[in-house]
Amino acid sequence: MLRKIVCLLMIFIGLGLPGAEAASSELTSIRWSVHNNKNDGSRMLRLVIDATAPVTAATEFVDGATPQLKVTIKGAIPGAGFGYVALKSELVQGVVGKRAPYDSSQLVISLSRALDPSEYKVFVLKKDPQNKKPDRVVIDLFEIPEAKFSVSPGLEDKTIVIDPGHGGSDPGAIGPNRVYEKSVTLAIAKRVEALLEQKGASVVLTRDNDRDVYPGTDATDAQELQARVNVAVKEKADVFVSIHANAAVDRTASGTATYYTAKTAYDLRLAQALQRGMVLAGGLEDDGVRQAGFYVTKRSRIPAALVETAFLSNPREEQLLNSPAFQQKIAVGIVNGLEEYFSSATGGDK
Ligand SMILES: [Zn+2]
Repeated sequence: MLRKIVCLLMIFIGLGLPGAEAASSELTSIRWSVHNNKNDGSRMLRLVIDATAPVTAATEFVDGATPQLKVTIKGAIPGAGFGYVALKSELVQGVVGKRAPYDSSQLVISLSRALDPSEYKVFVLKKDPQNKKPDRVVIDLFEIPEAKFSVSPGLEDKTIVIDPGHGGSDPGAIGPNRVYEKSVTLAIAKRVEALLEQKGASVVLTRDNDRDVYPGTDATDAQELQARVNVAVKEKADVFVSIHANAAVDRTASGTATYYTAKTAYDLRLAQALQRGMVLAGGLEDDGVRQAGFYVTKRSRIPAALVETAFLSNPREEQLLNSPAFQQKIAVGIVNGLEEYFSSATGGDK
């Protein structure tokens, strides 16, 4: 069982009072600057819009062929300095300020990819006469550097992130005999870790016990899944594999499947190799390789796959998933798949 992405997010921020939103106020300029973080290589792009009076800002992220971040500024119309901004980066494709209904203005930032809520922040600041700063709207975009990964033969020196699906407050699927997906995925992941380490790979599990990965107990689905993706970012991993068990209302549904999102040249190849490995070693029905937009396969910037090892809703496969013998078989299959993946291609840009 998998979580879905929340693709529309609206945040309203404001300090202005209704009485202060005089139609006569104007947006006088748009400034921007880049701030580099030497610790993690990330960059922050800051846009500042100056206004002649207090304003409020409402932000909407719109996903699509060209994702956009739209910031509507209420209480001010565009002045001479609010319009097109000559700004382009890896993330930002264009910035245009325009008039919006009801004496408002809108800044539209066109993006090269979808943004996670953690990747931007919009807020208003009040006039600061002491420092000669006007009322203003601040838009911060956080750019994570492009991921580098290696695809060369051999598991030695590869960094592999294994993500045991679910955990802690989220049990995942529960079988007819009460076997929990979160327990099965962790057991398989630990076996994969041991086998890969024997072959010289460096392995990091997103969790190595029964817990949520996001710190704290009230994370949204996106925060929890992003925390798993962040492990791969932090570790500069070459590949990301999320382990799950499938579930269906039809208890006869059975077999092994692998999902990927075609975002690098290697995602499909990885999924195919893992699927072959698991079907050969595990011996279950081959349910194939499928493209999907799952959070972890989509948002990890490196080749990634999500494996549905077997159906926990199928009593026979539930028993298998709960048995050390089958857990080991599937783990061997995943490791064989990873070995095949790395040996079949040379590339990457690490
Ligand atoms: Zn799952």
